[in-house]
Amino acid sequence: MTFPSIEKLHAALNAGEISCTQLVEEALQRAEEKSELNIFVELFPGSARTKATEVDAKLQAGKAGPLAGVVMALKDNLCYAGHKVSASSNMLRGFEAQFSATVVEKLLAADAIILGRTGCDEFAMGSSNETSAYGPVKNPVNPALTPGGSSGGSAAAVAADICHASLGSDTGGSIRQPAAFTGIYGVKPTYGRVSRHGVIAYASSFDQVGPFAKCLEDLALITEVISGGDDYDTTCSDRDVPAMRPPAAERPLSFGYYREVIENDALDPAIRTHFNDTVAKLQAAGHNVKALDFPYLDALVPIYYILTTAEASSNLARYDGVHVGHRSKDFNDLESLYKMSRSEGFGKEVQRRILLGTFVLSAGYFDAFYGSAQKARRVVRDATLEHLQEVDVLIGPTTPHTAFPLGQTYTDPTVLYLEDIFTVQAPIAGIPAVSIPAGTHPNGLPFGLQIMAGPFDEPKLFEAACVLDQMS
Ligand code: GLN
Repeated sequence: MTFPSIEKLHAALNAGEISCTQLVEEALQRAEEKSELNIFVELFPGSARTKATEVDAKLQAGKAGPLAGVVMALKDNLCYAGHKVSASSNMLRGFEAQFSATVVEKLLAADAIILGRTGCDEFAMGSSNETSAYGPVKNPVNPALTPGGSSGGSAAAVAADICHASLGSDTGGSIRQPAAFTGIYGVKPTYGRVSRHGVIAYASSFDQVGPFAKCLEDLALITEVISGGDDYDTTCSDRDVPAMRPPAAERPLSFGYYREVIENDALDPAIRTHFNDTVAKLQAAGHNVKALDFPYLDALVPIYYILTTAEASSNLARYDGVHVGHRSKDFNDLESLYKMSRSEGFGKEVQRRILLGTFVLSAGYFDAFYGSAQKARRVVRDATLEHLQEVDVLIGPTTPHTAFPLGQTYTDPTVLYLEDIFTVQAPIAGIPAVSIPAGTHPNGLPFGLQIMAGPFDEPKLFEAACVLDQMS
């Protein structure tokens, strides 16, 4: 039995129509039946069953948490004590987490049940799930297509109705793009809203954990549960966590969109038409919609790839085959141990990004690349925040087109980097952004609508998302 919302799930649990133990057995069975989608790197049947028994007892005693019985999946870059985690890399194949990420602790404390870990692009670097050492996850909507990346497995686990919800991480769009490609909801909270403790780092000033869900209410509730300060992460804000669940918006809101985005040649014409219809519907419902200019669109992807690769080259330096990670058997001195271990452990895309990051940080090039990109990041953030003074939220398509086929050959890696054109603005500016299902393309595939709000304004983000959700 599956449920469209946590509210409905809780009604069934409270009425005794189903138990957590049954929910887990059924989810394990569905995972088995859909194994050809390659969603899970590993299922955790033992700990999932134990937790289900515990939550069933708590339900009996009336002491269950807000996510009681919610069967969830974790992206394979979130640590869960006593369970393996690998960032879908050969570098960490077989590595077992010594402690749980704060987000995992919070899910368990809220009585969610964790079913397993899902495939992702290696170290969260990718847009198609194809850099995973375990092979790509397939899109449940059409298995010949990518589910998106990097959190494609966590999106697919929900879209395939195996899990009720899941967690992913988003550095440049890794939650929102897979949500759009699989027809579900996904949010990247404000930078600093959610702890990164126990999250395998890609780019520390961008990375943020967030949920995937089948409805906006569930998405907001899970975001609320995982938010809040953490002594283990000094970049995580300890400001109060507000109620995030969307109220039915009764006031007119103001929506801004960028001309450069909607008129962009890369944008699929059917998605553009749909967006223009949405604008007309908002206006007809009494909301204010404003076209804004954003001259920095073409700079976003270069800023993102300079800064994230720089941070990645530093974060991934720890995988040296000595302290952490795969150790080559073919070495004859310390230097060859490092070289061989890193060459064998990391895939091509991760190696490319480490090299690029090392280059932009190197003496002589630092100012031209890293320094300039930092300054450009500030310009983009300032411009974005200024726009968010003018309007309540910014809206636009999540991606330029619908899910593309798996197995394409790319002679130029930057072709895939351009996939991120609409999603990187939010992490560059540090603001929250959500992708909601916008509708069905004439080609039969889902696509997403993205909403961005001011820093720490998740309540308004979800309120505006609710307005749009009720229209589609
Ligand atoms: N597709 C982007 C990249 O390859 C985003 C990845 C992410 O958000 N983790 O870096």
